[in-house]
Parts: sequence; structure tokens; C-alpha cells
Amino acid sequence: MSGPLPSSTEICIVGAGPSGLACALGLAARKIPFVMVDALEAGHNSSRAVAMQASALEAIKTVHPQLVDQLVSAGIQSKSFTVIDLYERLLFRLRMTELAAYTKYAFTLLIPQHTAERHMREYILGGGDSIYWNKRVVGVKEAADGVQYELQFESGEALTARYLVAADGSKSFLRTFAGILFIDPYTKKAAEPGKNDLSFVVADVVFASPLPANVPRDGPQVMVGAGGMVLTAPILSEDSADASVQNDNLFRLYLGVPDTPPHAPDAPYLQAILNARGPGSHLKTQPVPQVVKVVESSRYRTRMALADRYVHRAEGGAYILLVGDAAHKHGPAGGQGMNMGICDGIELAQAIAEHRKCAADAEKAGAHKAVQIMDAYSTRRRAVALQVLNMVDRMTEVEKGGQGWGAYLRLKFLWAFFKMPFTNGIFAWQLSGLGHAKKP
Ligand SMILES: Cc1cc2nc3c(=O)[nH]c(=O)nc-3n(C[C@H](O)[C@H](O)[C@H](O)COP(=O)(O)OP(=O)(O)OC[C@H]3O[C@@H](n4cnc5c(N)ncnc54)[C@H](O)[C@@H]3O)c2cc1C
Repeated sequence: MSGPLPSSTEICIVGAGPSGLACALGLAARKIPFVMVDALEAGHNSSRAVAMQASALEAIKTVHPQLVDQLVSAGIQSKSFTVIDLYERLLFRLRMTELAAYTKYAFTLLIPQHTAERHMREYILGGGDSIYWNKRVVGVKEAADGVQYELQFESGEALTARYLVAADGSKSFLRTFAGILFIDPYTKKAAEPGKNDLSFVVADVVFASPLPANVPRDGPQVMVGAGGMVLTAPILSEDSADASVQNDNLFRLYLGVPDTPPHAPDAPYLQAILNARGPGSHLKTQPVPQVVKVVESSRYRTRMALADRYVHRAEGGAYILLVGDAAHKHGPAGGQGMNMGICDGIELAQAIAEHRKCAADAEKAGAHKAVQIMDAYSTRRRAVALQVLNMVDRMTEVEKGGQGWGAYLRLKFLWAFFKMPFTNGIFAWQLSGLGHAKKP
């Protein structure tokens, strides 16, 4: 929808990425009305993520079980995650099947972020709710009544709301307005290149047929080497009408790069990296996969940061509530950001529902409890993010590869570690995020 905005609403979700959409799904399931806005002209957020973990699927299932079935059928169920060295020796294989006793989703779902978002959007729109595109928030202030915020849009429109959901990504306008610090939780430094400031190229490519046997079609494979990681993950095409995009040879590539890559890396750029440190580059028994088509490509620079709180309460009782990348940001190792954002969004919808109920209670005890509900959301989700950031930080060190005894011993240790079913299971559990699920 790109028509005029209403002038007021109780809840406004700013940002229709996966976190905002998850919050919208949670509200829609409770029949709580909201307005959702996004600066984009139409829904196609940059497709960064490809891995959806069991925690996100379980969280969505709590509000819309049918949507999870749709997502699962639109992706590839990857039972394991393989890490090899430049000579294609197996360093370790993480088996997600170890989770079978705890979840129906004992796999990592390989689904491009834009596909997942499309399914979530269609679900919301199918339920009669709308998303307003081309609505960039450019200003916020406390409304004259003191119990609402007023958002100003680039279009010149204005909208008042009591709850503002800041799902507006890592450069969040609303977080900045609220004065919430967004810093590296370990170095405590803001906006400075940290030790995990990494450059990545993300590209959806079609490889030439026949696909070399050293590029698995049933799950992601990471090759670690001195120049940075090379990850191949099979994906399904959304566009079955385009015969040149054959599902069998369609892959998402994540390439760690030491320098600043071009804006939209082309086939020769990607091929040069694969030739230097991709499958077949060092162990010459198999050919290097050849890129015949680049469907989409982009570059990213990531840095670790965490909001020092997820909730900002105005004097009059209006709220700014952070979800997703607006609250936490880290590298792509382990495919965690979108998952955490989806779980944030679904938990926030629950918190808003409980808060509205409490706030409607005129008694003082009710008002006090209402504040506690939001504080609990902030404390719980921030603690989850801190644990995930820690795990991603350790995984990033492995994916960076590196040379020398330190890197060698680390990989040997991991090889021994992942050999044991028990420890393999513990790590699969951590990666899945299931341990962070909210107890009913
Ligand atoms: C290279 C890379 C690979 C990744 N791989 C994975 C993975 O495999 N698995 C995983 O779980 N995560 C992964 N992630 C992380 C994942 O992509 C993000 O965590 C996820 O996109 C966050 O979703 P979000 O909705 O919080 O924010 P975003 O996706 O950034 O969405 C924010 C939305 O807000 C809108 N917006 C911003 N400002 C305004 C404004 N002022 N007014 C109105 N609208 C506004 C934007 O247009 C956008 O649509 C990866 C990230 C990178 C960089």
C-alpha cells in the first residue's frame, strides 16, 4: 500500500524487514491493529540471510503454524553444516539432526531472506492488514497530549502512536532519537572499526552444469583459508519461469573479502575469488565451480554492536521498542541475526499485548506491572543477544581462517570436539537458538 497514512494509530511498526514482520504477525494473531511503514518503495529488502534456524520456526509456529509449513516447503532442509580447509579436508561437520528429540525442525532451513519476507508479508496482507511503502520516517517528537509520539515522514505526513516498534535496522533512526547507545559490548566502543569489522560479498549465482561433486547440494559448506571464508549454500529459485535459473545449480555465495569489494560484484570478480580459494582451487581433483549467471549480488560490512536497552519510555508513557538489527548487529557467522530478530518481534508482540491489558487497568498496581512487562522484554532479549554475539564472535574467528600454530590448533581442537555426538549436539542446540525460547 502506498496511499495516504492514517493520522493516528495505537501501534506503529517502523520497518518491514523480518523483525518488523514478525512483530506484525504476533499482533495480527492476537487481532491487535497496527500500522506498518517502510521507506522502501516495495517489499524487497536486501537479501542478506539464507539460514533460518529452528528457534525462528518454533517462534513463528506459536502464532501462525501454517506459515511455518509454507516457509519449510519454500526452502531446503539442511541436516548438517560442513567446514573444510583449502585442501578440502573435513575440519568438522555439525549435525542439526542431533536436535530431533527437541524439535520437529531438526535442520537449518536454507531460504533466502527475501523469500522468507515475501511469505511473511503475504500472510499479513492476506489477513487484511496493510503495509505502507515509501514512508520514510524523518522526525519524531512527543505529541502534544504527552502520551503518544508523533512521527514525521518524508512525504510530509504525520502519524501519532503510543507504541513505536523500532524495526528500522542497524542504523535505526528511532534508536538514535531515543538516545540509546549502540556499542560493541566487549570493547564498549561506538562506531569505530572493531576487531570483527568484516567485509562480505553476498551473491546468488548459477553454476555451470555439471555441478562439481565438491559443491554439496544438500547443505552449506564453508571453506576456511587465509584470505577469508568461502561459503556455498544451495537455494531454491523463486522464479520457476526463468529457465536460466536452474534450481539444481543455484547457490548463495558468502565470500569474506579483505578489501572493499565493488557495489554489485560481477561474475569475473566472484570467479576470481573461487579460483583463488574456493572448492577445487588447491586440491585439483575436482574443477572449480564456474559462475555462469549472477542473479543478485551485493556487499556488506558488519561490526558487532548491542543496544544498551531495548525500551525507551517517554514521560507520558509512550514507548519506543527495539527489535532485530536496531537492537543488535554482528557478522553473518552461524546465520543468527534474522533469527534473533524474528524471535524479538514475536516476543515483543506478546509484551505489547500484555502491556495494553495491564495499562488499561486504572489502578496503580496495574500501571507499575505494565512498566515491568516492558523492562522484562528488554532484559530478556538483550541477555539472549549478548550470548549470541559471544558465539558469533568465536565462530567468526574460525571462519576467518588465519595462519600459524594458533589457527591450526584451534581447528584441530574443533575437529576433536565435533567428533563427539554429545558436544556436536550441544553446539547444534546453541546454533538453533532453541535454548533461548521463552518459557510459557
Ligand atoms: C552478509 C550477511 C549475511 C547474513 N546472513 C544471515 C543468515 O544466514 N541468517 C540470519 O538469521 N541472519 C543473517 N544475517 C542478518 C540478517 O540479514 C539481519 O539480521 C536481518 O535483516 C535483520 O532484520 P531487521 O528486520 O531487523 O532489519 P532490516 O532487514 O535491516 O530491515 C529494516 C527495514 O527498516 C526500513 N527502514 C529503515 N529506516 C527507515 C526509516 N527511517 N523509515 C522507514 N523505514 C525504514 C528499511 O527499509 C528495512 O526494510 C546476515 C547479515 C549479513 C550482513
